[in-house]
Amino acid sequence: MNERTRKLAEMDKAHLWHPFTQMRDWQVEDPLIIERGEGTTLYDTDGNAYIDGVSSLWCNVHGHRRPEIDRAIHDQLDRVAHSTMLGLSAPPAVELAERLTELAPDGLDKVFYSDSGSTAMEIALKIAFQYWQQATGEPRPTFIALDQAYHGDTIGAVSLGGITLFHETYRPLLFDAVRAPCPHPYRSKYGPDPDRTMRGCLDAMDALLGEHAGRVAAVVVEPLVQGAAGIFVHPPGYLRGVRELCDRHDTLLICDEVAVGFGRTGRMFACEHESVAPDIMAVGKGLTGGYLPLAATLTTDAIYNAFLGEYDEFKTFFHGHTYTGNALACSAALASLHIFEKDKTLERIQPRIEQLARRLGQFAELEHAGDIRQCGLIAAVELVRDAGTKEDYRPGEKVGIRVTQAARKRGLITRPLGNVIVIMPPLAIGEDDLDRMLDILYDAIREVTESG
Ligand SMILES: *Cc1c(COP(=O)(O)O)cnc(C)c1O
Repeated sequence: MNERTRKLAEMDKAHLWHPFTQMRDWQVEDPLIIERGEGTTLYDTDGNAYIDGVSSLWCNVHGHRRPEIDRAIHDQLDRVAHSTMLGLSAPPAVELAERLTELAPDGLDKVFYSDSGSTAMEIALKIAFQYWQQATGEPRPTFIALDQAYHGDTIGAVSLGGITLFHETYRPLLFDAVRAPCPHPYRSKYGPDPDRTMRGCLDAMDALLGEHAGRVAAVVVEPLVQGAAGIFVHPPGYLRGVRELCDRHDTLLICDEVAVGFGRTGRMFACEHESVAPDIMAVGKGLTGGYLPLAATLTTDAIYNAFLGEYDEFKTFFHGHTYTGNALACSAALASLHIFEKDKTLERIQPRIEQLARRLGQFAELEHAGDIRQCGLIAAVELVRDAGTKEDYRPGEKVGIRVTQAARKRGLITRPLGNVIVIMPPLAIGEDDLDRMLDILYDAIREVTESG
């Protein structure tokens, strides 16, 4: 560790409070301090290189320092960095809204910007709630969300959340959401068969919608993959089934595409796999290619129209953030979407997705690999003490964290979800780097789980 790194580490420990981090552990470890990036590689302050195996927390798409995105931000900086969307408009925000509505599932023709996935979901909730009041005069106070759902860390998003570890502390502060079972075959009360799990979960959803008829503002799902829960990949057909149930019970469907949007599942949006158009869709993370904080909540004309009225009818959506529609962030997003077209990113990643599937077969041979899941370029290896009984490791054993540390020594950055090892490379990862990433993970898992 060079002198500068040592000083930075000292200052970090003196003043910085890191997210989702036990700071007592942090205090005794050597922090990894990232200085720069190039493509899918990150470099620390000592000059060591690492593959960015978590896409800088699921947001980097085309790699770091993509000249086109860098240039778009520079160009915008030469004009203006930020001006408000409250009562004013700006070219990057306008152009991006048009582009997003072209790409999004049918009917999502209106775009409301914010700064993070959490705020995009808060906005989705508030729009759905206010919509029913203004469209029908009848308030609908109930949201149905999935077990183990994750929709962000602000209070509304946490209310929808169903991850005990993250969310239970705050329960007294939260509004109650109705919980529907999540279709996760590996630990499903309907047994391991994906089809039976799906049908069981859809029947349960149907029953809940019946029970709460006329009071459900929306059903909220992460389409195809529940990320933070532990990369739960839903059985094919589940999302389509939920859409049909929402239609049959006359309620809205909110899809949280914050993690899965922008190519990660192999399509631009996860909803496309099942030809589903939600009523409200939240995007974030990959929207700017992983460059700047920007999120958006897309909705239909039907919902938007319920907010139109005379000024003094107060049907306005009274919500907005200071940096809503930030010009630098919107310029980065436009450049990222342009690269999707120019590079044919979605075509180019198909061989990587196949490569990942092939290589994951090898992980199945590991003694402690309980379950292996993949959807597009998202994958996970769930480590368990006993693959036969699915018995978990104890949290205190920190198996996931130790695998991460072992991977770091070998030049790969990952971040586990408990004992689930997450594989979430940027879409730009090359064939060799993907192989190397999987080699490192394989060795790291063996080092930690087979050391007795
Ligand atoms: C990350 C995430 C969020 C929250 O986004 P932030 O930008 O971290 O607030 C919401 N929903 C899902 C599915 C996510 O993965």
